[in-house]
Amino acid sequence: MAEVNIICIGCPLGCTATLTIGDGGEVAAITGCECKAGEKYVVEEYKNPVRVLTATVVTQGSPQPLLPVRTAVPIPKAKLLPGMKVLAKTRVKPPVKIGDVVIPNLLDTGIDVASTSDLAI
Ligand code: SF4
Repeated sequence: MAEVNIICIGCPLGCTATLTIGDGGEVAAITGCECKAGEKYVVEEYKNPVRVLTATVVTQGSPQPLLPVRTAVPIPKAKLLPGMKVLAKTRVKPPVKIGDVVIPNLLDTGIDVASTSDLAI
């Protein structure tokens, strides 16, 4: 058995949950959460933490040197650094409209990276 502490970000209370992890890696017990939604969040955060990847990509042929982008939905944390490496190699040419897909299916996640801004010529 081991214990893992995770702060729930489900609401401003910011409960600190303590997860008791069994020898097989399963969550055996949870203490510290004030609600069931928080318990669900901390178990997901332990098993499969995800984050929205937000960054910028370099542009070509535009007075705006960088274009802000983000994944449409959160991706696994383990994919953040490899995803940033893909973004670092990406070059985008105008015109781009807000919401346009800049990189489809990032790292075979099935998740697109989309522009969060227009890019003018
Ligand atoms: S466990 Fe519930 S009450 Fe506590 S921070 Fe998370 S959502 Fe808020």
